[in-house]
Amino acid sequence: MLSILSGCATRPFTVNQIDTRVAAKAQESRVRFLILHYTALDQPKSLQVLSEQAVSAHYLVADNNPTTVNRLVEEDKMAYHAGLSSWKNYTQLNASSIGIEIVNKGFEETPEGRRYFSFPQQQIDAVIALAKDIIARHQIKPEFVLGHSDIAPQRKSDPGPLFPWKRFAEAGLILWPNENAVAEQKLIYDANLPDIKWFQKKLAEFGYATPQHGNYDQETRNVIAAFQTRYRPSLFDGTADAETAAMLEVITRKPVTPAAPKP
Ligand SMILES: [Zn+2]
Repeated sequence: MLSILSGCATRPFTVNQIDTRVAAKAQESRVRFLILHYTALDQPKSLQVLSEQAVSAHYLVADNNPTTVNRLVEEDKMAYHAGLSSWKNYTQLNASSIGIEIVNKGFEETPEGRRYFSFPQQQIDAVIALAKDIIARHQIKPEFVLGHSDIAPQRKSDPGPLFPWKRFAEAGLILWPNENAVAEQKLIYDANLPDIKWFQKKLAEFGYATPQHGNYDQETRNVIAAFQTRYRPSLFDGTADAETAAMLEVITRKPVTPAAPKP
């Protein structure tokens, strides 16, 4: 019997005969986050470190004109740019993100204080064009387009206060608090500033890993500074002030949904 069966058996399965004609409706990209960095190095050194050492990013955007963009890691592979990181209930974001490193020397200490290096216009234009394409292809939500300092506020401060997040907002790529609503809310908080526990709760609600103990400690200051660096780069000293509270209140406001019509 066995010998008869084996005699008429078809060829054994091989992977190249997998039928891919039917695709599942329930599927999406594994990429949920787009994370932006500056390299704190010049272009040749950035390329060398990101291609030869234990750190990497999917893309490197240079500061030359016209802008050179390197793709160092394919998008379906993991790059090592985020490190210990979190946002909302997601952690270890290397696994679920695409990383863009922007060539920029970061900052230098001078007798007048810390001086940050600005980003050339054409470099930012290139980052926005690249980000738009990645966001569209992977359907990345605006609340998941972040800086390294947002996902690791205790360790990282890139892409820094001169990175123009507002241009990302104008391009519809990130969330931004409505400025009139912020001005209105600030008047309320000028008279009555929320306590630190409120700040901690709002920062966590927005996405930051934030202590919830109600103490105004250095960790909490670092998270406030990360939020300010992104949304109010003119002053990012980590002080829990009325304008920061107003921005937090407005940006975490739930959109008002109209009541369902009665049947
Ligand atoms: Zn970084």
